[in-house]
Amino acid sequence: MEKWQEELTASIRSIEDLRKFFPVSESSPLFEVVARARMSITPHTAKLIDWNNPNDPLFLMSVPNEQELMIADDELDDPIGDKMCSPIPFVARKYEDRVLIQVSFVCPQYCRYCFRRDRTGCATPGPTAEDRERIREYLITHSEIKEVILSGGEPLLLSDTQLYEWFELIRSVGKNIRVHTRVPANLPSRFTSELIELLSRFEVRVITHFNHPRELAPENFEVLKKLLSVDLRVENQSVLLRGVNDSTEILRELIEKLGEIGIEQHAIHQLDVAKGIGHFRVSIEKGREIVRGLGLAVPYYLDNPDGSGKRNLLKE
Ligand code: SF4
Repeated sequence: MEKWQEELTASIRSIEDLRKFFPVSESSPLFEVVARARMSITPHTAKLIDWNNPNDPLFLMSVPNEQELMIADDELDDPIGDKMCSPIPFVARKYEDRVLIQVSFVCPQYCRYCFRRDRTGCATPGPTAEDRERIREYLITHSEIKEVILSGGEPLLLSDTQLYEWFELIRSVGKNIRVHTRVPANLPSRFTSELIELLSRFEVRVITHFNHPRELAPENFEVLKKLLSVDLRVENQSVLLRGVNDSTEILRELIEKLGEIGIEQHAIHQLDVAKGIGHFRVSIEKGREIVRGLGLAVPYYLDNPDGSGKRNLLKE
């Protein structure tokens, strides 16, 4: 077993595991919370969390909270309309020139603000060989599609062999490959030399997901530098989260730290209206103020719940 697989096995996945770090009573609502939305916290993140401070940004993003049981009337199972814009299973198409494929529904760590929490961590199986074949045919038929985004769940939790098959399929039909991943933040050991070689060989564009400068520990920086050292195009996207990064100063620090090694900020996202994550939501008005305060040309996106794609809230 490789180190990253051992780390996955050692992740905090039950209330029993959580109790080694944090007191949880027998009558705690957290039992109900984790029954509704699965928990996993990798050893890497567990090491970075300040367990004595429930307001620590990493604690907030990783540890279940009883507020997740509060569902507002306007919250949705599918808050960005993935199902409404799905021409074939596992594919979401919101734009003429690109499609997104959900290749897995598993993540090493389940973000407590996950916008696909109705699917991630569930027993939903990923695409079968038949689904892959259908996807290949779809991509061949649609020559206007130039880029394929592998997302999930977490695409980089697939084995190297499975990733090779996806990369090979996409390249063989003449498309570019983009991967959306939070693994550089929560499971840096996944970036073995074999994986980096694979990403490099297929010239994969990597969009990481870091939300707070405290997620940039030395191991995370090391991985990012390795990706850049093989000339991969790496950018970061962040979600605006109340109590975590809802300040211009925090976002500026994150963006500057990434910028120092050559990683640009791809986008900042308004939190989607998924069920039970309202306690993380920052108002659009405040979000605009925060993002404008950066003075950068970084878009602030809202993904429309009807599946029609993103709009830049700074342009409205
Ligand atoms: S990594 Fe992405 S898909 Fe996985 S739990 Fe976090 S937000 Fe959801």
